[in-house]
Amino acid sequence: MTFKNAYLAEVMETVIKRNPAEPEFHQAVKEVLESLEPVVERHPEFVKTGIIDRMVEPERVIYFRVPWVDDSGKVQVNRGFRVQFNSAIGPYKGGLRFHPSVYAGIIKFLGFEQVFKNSLTGLPIGGGKGGSDFDPKGKSDQEVMRFCQSFMTELQRHIGADTDVPAGDIGVGGREIGYMYGQYKRLRNEFTGVLTGKGLTYGGSLVRTEATGYGLCYFTEEMMNAAGKSFKGSTVVISGSGNVAIYATEKAYQLGAKVVALSDSSGYIYDPEGIKLDTVKQIKEVERKRIKEYLNYHPNAEYFEGCGGIWSIKCDIALPCATQNELDEEAAKALVANGCFAVAEGANMPSTPEAVEVFLKNGVLFGPAKAANAGGVATSALEMCQNSMRYSWTFEEVDAKLKNIMVDIYKNSAAAAKEYGHEGNFVVGANIAGFMKVAKSMYAHGIAY
Ligand code: GLU
Repeated sequence: MTFKNAYLAEVMETVIKRNPAEPEFHQAVKEVLESLEPVVERHPEFVKTGIIDRMVEPERVIYFRVPWVDDSGKVQVNRGFRVQFNSAIGPYKGGLRFHPSVYAGIIKFLGFEQVFKNSLTGLPIGGGKGGSDFDPKGKSDQEVMRFCQSFMTELQRHIGADTDVPAGDIGVGGREIGYMYGQYKRLRNEFTGVLTGKGLTYGGSLVRTEATGYGLCYFTEEMMNAAGKSFKGSTVVISGSGNVAIYATEKAYQLGAKVVALSDSSGYIYDPEGIKLDTVKQIKEVERKRIKEYLNYHPNAEYFEGCGGIWSIKCDIALPCATQNELDEEAAKALVANGCFAVAEGANMPSTPEAVEVFLKNGVLFGPAKAANAGGVATSALEMCQNSMRYSWTFEEVDAKLKNIMVDIYKNSAAAAKEYGHEGNFVVGANIAGFMKVAKSMYAHGIAY
């Protein structure tokens, strides 16, 4: 164990003991606890009131059965999850992930991260996460609809516009949110902002689709500007080709960069002329096909099997936007050797702890997920706000708010890092800045015996 502080070491030990075989959750907690060393020294009241012991234990965990019937008439059973992690600063808020790799450890790590991320946005949202081991890949629209309806039939009793507001994540986009919203409305007979990422015709917010990717670039630009660098004239590699990667690509182009690679879980495409985003949108958003199809439209581009190799492409800026632990130590070293000067995380926890260490040691500007990808959930909070007002803002209004939020997240993370003796380390800065607001609120609320 790497903790100097005995209290933090004890908390970590309990987390491992209490949540066996959940390595992703252990990893996420360890990173935050390491950042909190200087905080517990300065704030003994947080130790005395067990704030951190309480923060690593979700307020509530719900597991449920999701039965549905496939197109051949066969009964299928999946498992559903909702982890309501922390409601100290607002209703639980966080996405739903539908992916075969989903199990308790993934949802807990995501829920834990969400608490700090949501706090960093400056908006009144607590942290939660949910999902299922259902794989939407290869399923018909009818199958996805039946699954979503069954999932919501159980979930609806645990959520509400002032209680817990789910949204999308991997495998959950506009189509799935629509089916789930329809089912919620049927069962509850109410039209409220119980989900975000809704369609624009029924209460969705402009910019929500673009928000995570745009926000990632706003944060990265701010972080780079402070170091005298920018997207302008830079070469960018982005992993993934889902919602986050697509809109990060769009914004990177708008800011004057060239994006040369994108990937999916099978492999990556390299187009040295610059990825043609219209083609990618057609393949991913309309046809729902694999990124390999890009070669049918642009035969001069190259396709490589396996996704790890994407980090060996020479670039100035790398934006991992696929999934957890997709960028390891070796990949980080390859990026550094090729002169990459900025890395910012669009996915949740895409860099392994060893990779983060390589970036920090080599002076690479590093924007951790909690700060860099908070634009998605921040815009979800703006959607909640508009729903409560029964009003909607223009694209320009929401985009301006998003940009301000991302600039503030950068500034607050940088200031916290400096205040606690880790200037330039935005991992420590984001963790501390996110932690303080939640810790102060929990402290104010007292302990229920
Ligand atoms: N799934 C996204 C995240 O990881 C968005 C969550 C939301 O909008 O509630 O932050």
